[in-house]
Amino acid sequence: DVPGARAGVDALPIRENLRGKSAYGAPQLSVPVQLNTNENPHPPTKALVDDVAESVREAGRELHRYPDRDVVALRTDLAAYLARQTGVPVTIDNVWAANGSNEILQQLLQAFAGPGRSAMGFVPSYSMHPIIADGTDTEWLPIFRREDFALDVDAAVDAINGHRPDVVFVTSPNNPTGHSVAIAELRRILDAAPGIVIVDEAYAEFSDAPSALTLIDEYPTKLVVTRTMSKAFAFAGGRLGYLAAAPAFIEALLLVRLPYHLSVVTQAAARAALRHADETLGSVAQLAAERDRVSAALTAMGYTVVPSDANFILFGLFEDAARTWQHYLDEGVLIRDVGIRGYLRATIGLVAENDELLRVSGKLAAKEL
Ligand code: PMP
Repeated sequence: DVPGARAGVDALPIRENLRGKSAYGAPQLSVPVQLNTNENPHPPTKALVDDVAESVREAGRELHRYPDRDVVALRTDLAAYLARQTGVPVTIDNVWAANGSNEILQQLLQAFAGPGRSAMGFVPSYSMHPIIADGTDTEWLPIFRREDFALDVDAAVDAINGHRPDVVFVTSPNNPTGHSVAIAELRRILDAAPGIVIVDEAYAEFSDAPSALTLIDEYPTKLVVTRTMSKAFAFAGGRLGYLAAAPAFIEALLLVRLPYHLSVVTQAAARAALRHADETLGSVAQLAAERDRVSAALTAMGYTVVPSDANFILFGLFEDAARTWQHYLDEGVLIRDVGIRGYLRATIGLVAENDELLRVSGKLAAKEL
């Protein structure tokens, strides 16, 4: 009896390229062990929560006013963090921020892609890249990775030369496969690309590979590096993503961003979380060690584990990945079916959660492998 419910999406005058498409769909289920969305499993410290609460309280006095449209204080803090983490002397003029790196990616496609333009990605990779391409009416050009899911740089360069895409996405470390892309390989892609190259470094803090930030000065008209506070920073609920690029890119994004897109509350909370970066990022080494422990244990059970530089692992081989995903769920462990035949992806959690993943995996290995 919901008013209007008799009309389905197909009855709407929706854009043709959105017809029949599905929405981003990681199930949000309440189960004991949630290892499906690549978050940092460590809850914020009391000191961080207190700092966020106090900062938001203070910011609350300004809630009748629009927030700082240009996000000056937070961008300054993010630039300082990036400079510290990568050694590249970026400043506020190199940094832009938005509600999650998904919004950053959307703004980039709004400015640099859209109708009549194309974006290329090396799949399997992050599922939102094609969805944001659809949302901005950008033609999506998927190019397959090698059989072992590593990026085939020769094939990538050939595809770029053949299709001349306006935007190239390189995810490093790649979600869901975990591989990083070396700087020399990125240079080859940047040299070939006629338009912009977005290096999506959502998981950079988990990897020892050098950041693409080191290439910004070399490719000021091509390179954009996107980052997020959702993963290593344990701030997924705060919604804060950012990018580093030459200052001209930030000027371009000012043309498409909605004014006041980052609320007073978001800006204050993110700055507070950044003040606690050292304690939060202290969990990164431990998560990397857990990733290696889980990978070794799964390998010992007979699973195929794709080597990962991030806080998740892709593993198999399963005869029917969807069925196996359900088996894990029935045992209280939520992992992710990313639609790659034979494989599932598990986020690295707390030690006890990982032990649960291994317990169920051991049980299944006896049956499946
Ligand atoms: N890029 C990649 C590769 C991701 O895996 C994710 C999160 N799943 C994001 C971007 C977006 O994260 P957020 O919008 O939370 O910053």
